[in-house]
Amino acid sequence: MVGLRRILEVSRAVTLDCLCPRLCVRCRKEGALICESCWENWTVTAPPNGCPGCELDKAGKICTACVGTWGLAGLASMDSYADPVLRRLIGAWKFTGDRQAFGLLKTHLCLFAERLRPYHYQAVTWVPLHASRKRGRGFDQAELLARAVGSVLNIRCEPFVERVVHTPPRAKTHAGERGKDDMAGVFVGRGTSPERVLLVDDVFTSGGTMDAAAKALKEAGAKEVWGLTLARG
Ligand SMILES: [Zn+2]
Ligand SMILES: [Zn+2]
Repeated sequence: MVGLRRILEVSRAVTLDCLCPRLCVRCRKEGALICESCWENWTVTAPPNGCPGCELDKAGKICTACVGTWGLAGLASMDSYADPVLRRLIGAWKFTGDRQAFGLLKTHLCLFAERLRPYHYQAVTWVPLHASRKRGRGFDQAELLARAVGSVLNIRCEPFVERVVHTPPRAKTHAGERGKDDMAGVFVGRGTSPERVLLVDDVFTSGGTMDAAAKALKEAGAKEVWGLTLARG
């Protein structure tokens, strides 16, 4: 089954390459997903990292005004979602299953995650897709990122949270994500969560989704949940 899926993926990639030749995500030159010179020159810079709730500059930590309503203790994001290269790589991976885009994103995220090593998190988990959505896409992007981070930081990576309510795309807000108040009951904890957990997702926009997952983790026993994403909107 896995073999058949892989053959279908490869043949789809070959067909797509023939029908619409690849353009570099940075300079749009024809030939590769990212050309050699753009790969050498593309640097991700951590976006402004204020409090995830109100943007007050707190080095990514939740500020004292937001702490009562947020489940997350803080957020570390690798790049700004305003970076077109990052946006195109995420789009190519999530919506066409581009494995090379995933490889590039994973490499950068693992390098970035090294800065979290001194905080000694006990485990990594992720903001999961609903099971039906994962079946449709064939993979859960946040899970693949979390597993890569767990392996580079050498800490266990397990599904400590489950999405029990399917939130259809039409219910999203204009910000591309549901508001915080609409997310109650969407996630539940699975088993007992370790106390200090790193919660991974691909993109952080208004934070409603990630925060709801963080709250479910806390109900399952977590004391401190820190978010890690590729991009911050
Ligand atoms: Zn280029
Ligand atoms: Zn705040």
